[in-house]
Amino acid sequence: MGIKDILDLKQTKAEEPPKKKGVPKGIWSKCAACNKTIYQKDFLKNLKVCPECGFHYQLSARERLDSLVDPGTFEETNSVLLADDPLKFKANKTYRESLDQSKEKTALPEAVVTGWSKINGRLVMLGVMDFHFIGGTMGSVVGEKITRAVENATEAETPLIIVAASGGARMQEGMFSLMQMAKTSAAIARLGKNRMPYITVLTHPTTGGVTASFASLADVIIGEPGAMIGFTGPRVIEQTIKQRLPEGFQTAEFMLEHGMIDMVIERPKIKNTISDYLDMVLPVSKKKDTKEAIKDIMNRPLLDDVNNINKRIQKGISKIQEKVKGD
Ligand SMILES: [Zn+2]
Repeated sequence: MGIKDILDLKQTKAEEPPKKKGVPKGIWSKCAACNKTIYQKDFLKNLKVCPECGFHYQLSARERLDSLVDPGTFEETNSVLLADDPLKFKANKTYRESLDQSKEKTALPEAVVTGWSKINGRLVMLGVMDFHFIGGTMGSVVGEKITRAVENATEAETPLIIVAASGGARMQEGMFSLMQMAKTSAAIARLGKNRMPYITVLTHPTTGGVTASFASLADVIIGEPGAMIGFTGPRVIEQTIKQRLPEGFQTAEFMLEHGMIDMVIERPKIKNTISDYLDMVLPVSKKKDTKEAIKDIMNRPLLDDVNNINKRIQKGISKIQEKVKGD
């Protein structure tokens, strides 16, 4: 089975009930990967992993949060940051239209949700991406929210967990998207100096500028079984190097075998794996109380608006261009 087939499979929903007479709608489903009939309740209890073949279906950001955090502990941060359209971009549809459609489809303001939460009683800063929002692409707002999450974790001395799912940089914001790779990476370097653990979970698919920045910079990188992880798509690579790629290229398992990630963990075991690792590297006394650790940060007014940040970047670029002309 090629990557293309895996991709296609993942997009097929398992929730669709089989078209068999007498089977109540929604109680039984057919797995698109193994074709077996699965009990919907088991499927959901198993966090949308097929109980028969272990196929991992995509989760929304909200479903992912539910699978990871202790119930009722999530406090969202920076939900008010919304994307601007600095290039007035238009392809098949305008960037504004893409944003509006994604907001409606996902009920999310952007492709990443960040916030404080507890994982088995330990306070962490968590960022979760949603592939259903313009392919989980990283524009100014995604980059800014990730950066702020990293900075909050650095300041509050809490671990940072990011669950990635992304098509890479958001082309509709051009260079502003590419800037986010440097920005998030710089923030993570500061977190590292503070010696706070950083864990990423790479889910299907994690590609492009996200793989090439914050997703690959963690202390521990966990992949979900079968997830596509890579930079450029396999077809472009084959065309460029004029060679056939090996079987299973760019799956989490392939990445593990080649030293790009640290482990491949089944979704139902990810929460406890993260929690066990944190218990190993951070003493239990570091389990801070949510309110105490984050009070100051949460009460602080927002420093700046993403649009202002973009304007400053634009100014800086104009200055550089002028200087280059002058030289
Ligand atoms: Zn299955």
